[in-house]
Amino acid sequence: MLSNAFAARRVFLLQTVTVGLGAAMATQASAQAMLSESDSQAVALGYKADAAKVDKTKQTKFAAGQACVNCTLFQGAPNAAAGGCPLFAGKQVTAKGWCSAYAKKAS
Ligand code: SF4
Repeated sequence: MLSNAFAARRVFLLQTVTVGLGAAMATQASAQAMLSESDSQAVALGYKADAAKVDKTKQTKFAAGQACVNCTLFQGAPNAAAGGCPLFAGKQVTAKGWCSAYAKKAS
């Protein structure tokens, strides 16, 4: 009886640890998948993680209000802080980011 209770508690603890590790790894994986501004493709397209920091003298196409979140290529949810972009496969761009391939999402 006591050993059954002990075994059940052991299984519960192992499941809890496994679920916790899975969540931690998922968080780390998505953190690792953020696009870096120094990525060669990001540099080529003038990507900035914060559209407010776009150099307007170099990026003459940029207009106030443009950001990944309202770009037709942004794959994240409308209220997500980050999401995928097909131009940067396997990476996430920030919702408030911008690059020179920006194309306004149809409303
Ligand atoms: Fe952001 Fe659009 Fe450029 Fe992708 S193509 S990085 S969603 S502005």
